[in-house]
Amino acid sequence: MSDLIRLKSVSHYYGNQCTLREIDFSVADGEFVCILGPSGCGKSTLLNILAGFLTPSSGQIILSARNDDVVGHDIKVVMQNAHLFPWLTVHRNVEFGLRMRGDAKETRDARVMELLHLVGLSGVESKYPAQLSGGMQQRVAIARALAPDPSILLMDEPFGALDAQLRRRMQAELVQIRAVTGKTIIFVTHDIVESVLLADRIVVLTTAPGQIKKIVSVDLEHPRERNRGVYDWVFELEQLL
Ligand code: ADP
Ligand code: MG
Repeated sequence: MSDLIRLKSVSHYYGNQCTLREIDFSVADGEFVCILGPSGCGKSTLLNILAGFLTPSSGQIILSARNDDVVGHDIKVVMQNAHLFPWLTVHRNVEFGLRMRGDAKETRDARVMELLHLVGLSGVESKYPAQLSGGMQQRVAIARALAPDPSILLMDEPFGALDAQLRRRMQAELVQIRAVTGKTIIFVTHDIVESVLLADRIVVLTTAPGQIKKIVSVDLEHPRERNRGVYDWVFELEQLL
């Protein structure tokens, strides 16, 4: 697998406060990488840098061996809250990016149906976000992010606002979505169990300023259950955090 994105010695300061120090790692095409670390260690800052919303104070981000100024174009983000357009129906929300780039109506309609099916939401296309539960809204946000078929999906604690049971279901569904789409996913979380259930590799950050403590490969089959295999990894990661 080739590297889709590579960070080279990325550091970030807010004023004179160092938030991230010399972050180096690569993500391969099709890989699911979790960025795991305690609150305040700079995970969201790192994700915002990857998304192109923030310019790092120093270092480089190289996307598919191209110039670093392409960052942001082919990357979609899902945040902790769905941030849907409240005045648009589910259908309109999901097709937003497709409309912006001028796809034909038939193409958009087919893609919206396909995506709503993928996220388990067929039949709600004419509802408005306020009529949906938090979990459903987050599914719409995932469908909207996937619609333009980005190379990379960035997720910042996307299930953090959901209750424990729903969160588990969404984790399982995300594993499924990933299997079907083959997307490259970079997923931020402070939840050790979540990272072990989802990731091919986990980038473990230290407390602020975030530095890489260790990068581990989780070689467990999917679907992963909360069993001995998973908890062995959880125990190992707890020793690091
Ligand atoms: P995490 O997502 O891991 O909880 P953040 O990246 O949100 O961490 O924040 C890392 C540190 O940077 C925290 O101390 C936070 O207060 C600080 N910080 C985040 N955003 C800003 C900002 N826009 N201006 C100044 N400080 C910030
Ligand atoms: Mg955060």
